[in-house]
Amino acid sequence: MHKILVSRCLLGHRVRYDGGASGPFDQLAVWLAEGRVVGLCPEVAGGLPTPRPAAEIPGGQGAEVLDGQARVLTETGEDVSPEFLHGAHLALEQVRLHGIRIAVLKANSPSCGNLLTYDGTFSGVKVAGEGVTAALLKRHGVQVFSELELAEAARALANLPA
Ligand code: SF4
Repeated sequence: MHKILVSRCLLGHRVRYDGGASGPFDQLAVWLAEGRVVGLCPEVAGGLPTPRPAAEIPGGQGAEVLDGQARVLTETGEDVSPEFLHGAHLALEQVRLHGIRIAVLKANSPSCGNLLTYDGTFSGVKVAGEGVTAALLKRHGVQVFSELELAEAARALANLPA
């Protein structure tokens, strides 16, 4: 059975930077009941506490962080890139362990966002781009969707070879 990596905050776990969570999502409940879900919060797994200061990637995106060309910073300038990178590699470890081809990651996060992230100015402005974990998983061939694309994720799952 194909497993799916899912951001833990989408499973109702209160791991978000502000101590919150998202959901419930019917499709994720189905996949949970089927035993497909591998839940992970890259930031918490990477060593950050909850709650924690918001972080953004000024002047770059997840791919640049992976390549050492940008950093993940809190609003006060604390560099949390090492924790973000560690969490991304732990996510990749789970992908390899379970042969995962599909991930559903929280939209807009500097770790998990797959289409948009915040622009690094802590002003709520979003730009096209992806978070550190989303970028690493995509580099390794994982199809990354968000909670806004659960129908697309389900279609991708149905199209995977048995
Ligand atoms: Fe953790 Fe990703 Fe959810 Fe942020 S978006 S709380 S890093 S699972």
